[in-house]
Amino acid sequence: RDHRPSYLEIRDLRVVFDKFVAVDGVDLRVEQGDLRFLIGPNGAGKTTTIDAVTALAPAQGSINHNGHELVGRKTHKIVRYGVGRTFQTASVFEDLTVLQNLDIAAGLRRRPRDMVRTRQEVSPRILEVMETTGLSRHQETKAGVLSHGQKQWLEIGMLMVQDATVLLLDEPVAGMSQGERDATGELLTKLAADHVVVVVEHDMEFLRKYAQSVTVMAAGKVIAEGTVAQVQADSTVQEIYLGT
Ligand code: ADP
Repeated sequence: RDHRPSYLEIRDLRVVFDKFVAVDGVDLRVEQGDLRFLIGPNGAGKTTTIDAVTALAPAQGSINHNGHELVGRKTHKIVRYGVGRTFQTASVFEDLTVLQNLDIAAGLRRRPRDMVRTRQEVSPRILEVMETTGLSRHQETKAGVLSHGQKQWLEIGMLMVQDATVLLLDEPVAGMSQGERDATGELLTKLAADHVVVVVEHDMEFLRKYAQSVTVMAAGKVIAEGTVAQVQADSTVQEIYLGT
């Protein structure tokens, strides 16, 4: 892999549904080494912005990842470039074990009967990912019985084994216990060192604890960007959060 830092650069992004402009000229650049939170009131266009990176054709704008233009590419190609996203409801295979889910994500196995059976056969990369995401003890646990937090970590692990360099996370701590939130914050802090990480999140306590930088959106536009302290001191941001 290349040693220059990874980046994701969105320029002048516009997404229109029928005539409704959901994202209206958004610029957003995030580099590896940052842990960026994307916040704003409901309907601000946060999810649509990250949808546009992986799966939604924008009306206008460019989305560049390490020199690759993503606009106009098919989702599978974008995933191959190393861009991954998670959803509020984790999309894991509930009937398969943690290890089987990771195997499938890594493209190592296609069918359950081909699944790895002993620990010795597990790829070193998958062992490392289970360790990082705190799932080693649950290797043989069916994903369907994992806690909400563990499912989110599995989903992140599935992106890691695909060698994703960009992680777009949609409300990862929604519904998590305090312990799970802290574990997630530590995981994301670790991942941000060598991934581009963008977190859409409503939880302000979590943001204050873990965000390294923040982009605030409202009504389809970026209205503020900076450190947590900078955006909290911004009068437009205060108006939006206190005025609604
Ligand atoms: P946020 O994530 O900031 O809450 P969204 O990106 O989900 O905001 O939505 C932005 C706006 O776009 C909202 O007004 C929403 O109703 C609208 N929107 C989102 N997806 C669609 C869609 N598929 N069709 C029509 N309108 C949509």
